[in-house]
Amino acid sequence: AGILYLVPTPIGNLGDISARMADTLAEVDFIAAEDTRVTLKLLNHLGLKKPLISYYRHNTEAGGQAVLDRLLAGESCALVTDAGTPAISDPGEDLVALCARNGVDVVSIPGPCALVTALAASGLPTGRFTFEGFLAMNKKNRRAHLEELVGERRTMIFYEAPHKLTATLDDLTAAFGPDRRISLCRELTKLHEEVRRTTLGEAVRWYAENPPRGEFVLVVEGAPESVEEAITLEDGLALVDRLRAEGR
Ligand code: SAM
Repeated sequence: AGILYLVPTPIGNLGDISARMADTLAEVDFIAAEDTRVTLKLLNHLGLKKPLISYYRHNTEAGGQAVLDRLLAGESCALVTDAGTPAISDPGEDLVALCARNGVDVVSIPGPCALVTALAASGLPTGRFTFEGFLAMNKKNRRAHLEELVGERRTMIFYEAPHKLTATLDDLTAAFGPDRRISLCRELTKLHEEVRRTTLGEAVRWYAENPPRGEFVLVVEGAPESVEEAITLEDGLALVDRLRAEGR
């Protein structure tokens, strides 16, 4: 069988393309891409032409089978997503599992990944951390997720889209209290890269006045040793209302 290569792509800065990334894209028989238009731009930048097929969130079953069939027939494939490391909060984990079940070798090439880039810059403890990905859209599921994390001692990492950032900061503040430290890592590796090291309460106030733009990774300090400081969700929500009012 052929080999599935997981090929990370830049999270903003094209200078982060490595020799091994480019060589692998040049050498494989075909590329499975989350969005073929995004990947075409990258291939044009590298001066490469390759057969592309789609592998995205809503076709992982049919798309996965198509990739597997070609791998089993001896072709090699590079999996790329829109940005960063495939299989980390983007399509890919199912394809890796499918290959593993079918005895196809998977080679994971290291490269850009927003969560690691953010954690390293956060200034918060990096020795133990937990990656929480995106919070659910659904209010009830978000709250349930955050309630699970109330006593979490490890540094926590979240991905978030700009239009949901203020709602997420409200929920994080309600769950963890306004004094908890947070590093908001924005537009990493890009022109307007910024790391704002602050507290949840200050962040709620700041973004009430300054609408968030760009892509964010949120790195949140773990719970303090004494759990007495923990607040209830009800108290937390009332507090967020006060902070937002102060920010205006
Ligand atoms: N697979 C990717 C990785 O390795 O990081 C993550 C894909 S996920 C669909 C996209 C999320 O990653 C964004 O919503 C944002 O939270 C984060 N992200 C990606 N690029 C970023 C950047 N340049 N700066 C800050 N956050 C970024």
